[in-house]
Amino acid sequence: MVTDIFSSMVFDDATMEARLPKETYKTLQRTIKLGKHLDLNVANVVANAMKDWAIEKGATHFTHWFQPMTGVTAEKHDSFISPKDGGKVIMEFSGKELIRGEPDASSFPSGGLRATFEARGYTAWDATSYAFIKDGVLCIPTVFCSYGGEALDQKTSLLRSMEAINRQALRVLKLFGNADVTSVKTTVGPEQEYFLVDKAQYDRRKDLIYTGRTLFGAKAPKGQELDDHYFGAIKPRVAAYMKDLNDELWKLGILAKTEHNEVAPAQHEMAPIFTTTNIAADHNQLTMEMMQKVAKRHGMVCLLHEKPFDGVNGSGKHNNWSISTNTGVNLLEPGETPYENAQFLLFLCAVIKAVDEYQDLLRISVASAGNDHRLGANEAPPAIVSMFLGSDLAELLDAIEADCPYDGKEKEVMRIGVHTLPKFQKDATDRNRTSPFAFTGNKFEFRMLGSSESISTANTVLNTIVAEELRQYADALEGCDDFDGTLHELIRKTIRENKRIIFNGDGYDASWVAEAEKRGLLNLRTTPDALAHMLDEKNIALFTSHKVYSETELRARHEVRLENYCKVVGIEAQTMLDMARKDILPAMAGYTAELSRGIAAKQAVCPEIDCSYERSTLKEISGLMTAAFATVGKLEKDLLTCKGIASSEEMADFFKDTILSDMCSLRVSVDSMESLAAADKWPYPSYGDILFGVR
Ligand code: ADP
Ligand code: MG
Repeated sequence: MVTDIFSSMVFDDATMEARLPKETYKTLQRTIKLGKHLDLNVANVVANAMKDWAIEKGATHFTHWFQPMTGVTAEKHDSFISPKDGGKVIMEFSGKELIRGEPDASSFPSGGLRATFEARGYTAWDATSYAFIKDGVLCIPTVFCSYGGEALDQKTSLLRSMEAINRQALRVLKLFGNADVTSVKTTVGPEQEYFLVDKAQYDRRKDLIYTGRTLFGAKAPKGQELDDHYFGAIKPRVAAYMKDLNDELWKLGILAKTEHNEVAPAQHEMAPIFTTTNIAADHNQLTMEMMQKVAKRHGMVCLLHEKPFDGVNGSGKHNNWSISTNTGVNLLEPGETPYENAQFLLFLCAVIKAVDEYQDLLRISVASAGNDHRLGANEAPPAIVSMFLGSDLAELLDAIEADCPYDGKEKEVMRIGVHTLPKFQKDATDRNRTSPFAFTGNKFEFRMLGSSESISTANTVLNTIVAEELRQYADALEGCDDFDGTLHELIRKTIRENKRIIFNGDGYDASWVAEAEKRGLLNLRTTPDALAHMLDEKNIALFTSHKVYSETELRARHEVRLENYCKVVGIEAQTMLDMARKDILPAMAGYTAELSRGIAAKQAVCPEIDCSYERSTLKEISGLMTAAFATVGKLEKDLLTCKGIASSEEMADFFKDTILSDMCSLRVSVDSMESLAAADKWPYPSYGDILFGVR
């Protein structure tokens, strides 16, 4: 039964309560709530109970589980065993081992943060995220820092950003008289897209193995034209996979809820029920890991790359985000009374102002070599950040700005704090799928995230930019003489100054690019273009003033991101060269030789026999081989040039402008060859084989 397995592998609140002495449980709860350090004596008791529980569940090892700047998770297993007299062992796990670990940090990316003479880093338990068992290992979710205290991971800054928005939102809520609210948290429900392909096909594609995406591949006769995959009947093999995946996720306490086929052939989606942001981030990492692991059991491979196949949709993540109080109020829910409405409008405006003023940071937060193939390719939101509010809400904001009667049911000039908002039809608000950032009735859906990236960076930015706007509002409202008047003016001012970010039209339409430019919105097409803004003064000021990143930490992340971009594109280029030189060109050399021999043989037997098919194919493929070989040479030369570039920015630009364009031309020649060559002469499974291979 689902209810029996749900959370069965998690040392959750109920398990803690059942397994810990009452006093220890209470102390631990207090520590978690207040975010204090855990006393070692308490930690010893907790660790022991955790160990006993884990051993009963078959665990033999424990690990600190963390999220370095690689975007994936890291773990190093230690067994519980400890030697005992008489050549025996006992199983031990101490409080010290629970709360702190010291992995060697030297091989994780640090962007220069970690001086080489001090390779150590340490991990510390994030007690707000429960310990769990995965593959017989007790996993302790931790943060990962250098000895100087700088964050070397994605989680530390996410937790800091949650603290920042908590601090500022509480100031605002206090002004509205919410005496009972003591904490505010953001919540996230990330919808995860993925592809499933047959493992036998996958194993024959070096590009999928090395880079996660196909670097070559002529289009199959059929792609997603008929829209017959979206929400279509799920194939039995995929259904069995989904069932197995759900079981694994439920055991880990992950609220897997919705599953369906996506637009592209072989593409699917899983959406969980939302939860607190840092836990949602942990769960999303586990989800991605489980998706891949479970696929292997079913003879398939789960592709999480943003653009595994050209010509059909790529995969993203929709980050549904909202803000809630500990008293259970969703601050992005319009509410019923004039007072609740006023508070809602202020929080809504904080998001509008944040998204407008920090468009660059939102774009940067989703920038990666993989996602560059997706954003702006008419299948995902464009690289331009804008916001969709729906026409009802947009009209209302217009009316407030102009002090005009709103044409809804009120027919009166809206006075904030005096009038109630008209009821919005929730469904009318959310069906614009082309918007990068859409209001969907009681939450925002940030749709630009790539499918393989951790959601931590995007949510760190989202929390921090909204915290900054709330800070400005609280500064203006605290101690002002006329609260309602000041509030009304603050909201009007935001609408007036930031409404350019609101766009309710079709984000895929070419005219939007021109319109956005007229409005002065940024269009940062690629990762290097976006990263060029990361260290702008206003961004450094934002992160340092809210103590989310120190300047050093931010610079380090900038460096890591640039390096990662270059490495990813570099590996792709090398893989293409390998495939072209070792497989494709030799295969085509053999094929053209065979064609030539065939022509010669036919002619020898009967000179007037027609060889037009063979001749034409031979000529065309030979021409394409010449072109491909020339590009191979150019790509090899350009990759050598890269080695001489010292600055990371210049290097990234070179990869973007020169290497990617070489790769593009190589692909054009090779894909044309593939469409001409005999199927059994082509060295790799085709797009058709892979996309329609799971039956
Ligand atoms: P759809 O957008 O397909 O209509 P829903 O609105 O039910 O579906 O939710 C989509 C996702 O948004 C789910 O993961 C859901 O849990 C999440 N979600 C719903 N409410 C919130 C909230 N307050 N904060 C964050 N995520 C939320
Ligand atoms: Mg979706």
